[in-house]
Amino acid sequence: MTNDPAAKKKQTAHRNPTFHRQYTLPYLSDYAGRKIWVKCGKCPLRKRYDANTLLAKIGDVCMHELIGRLARAEGCPKVDNISADRCNLHYDIKAMGELIGDQNRQLR
Ligand SMILES: [Zn+2]
Repeated sequence: MTNDPAAKKKQTAHRNPTFHRQYTLPYLSDYAGRKIWVKCGKCPLRKRYDANTLLAKIGDVCMHELIGRLARAEGCPKVDNISADRCNLHYDIKAMGELIGDQNRQLR
C-alpha cells in the first residue's frame, strides 16, 4: 500500500478507455446482399457499394476498418490526417435503411 502519487499515476495509466475495448461493430458479412452507402461531409464524395462485391474483393472486415479502406480507395487526401481536418467519410445510415447491431439501434 502506498500514497506515493507517482505510483497512483502509474495505475491510472492503465485505464486507457480503448485498452480493453473489443469490436462489437458489425462486419461486412452482416450486410451481405445489401448496399453500403458512404458519404463524406468535407468532400463531395458520396458512393454506394454492393456488399457482396466488397466481400468478394476484400473479404469480411469489420465495418470500422472498412470505412478507412473505402476512403483510401477513393483517394481522399485527408484519410490519414490525425488532426480535426480528417476525412469525414462515414456510413450513410439513413440511405442504408434498416440498421444492424446494438450500437446502431442506439442512434435511432
Ligand atoms: Zn473525404
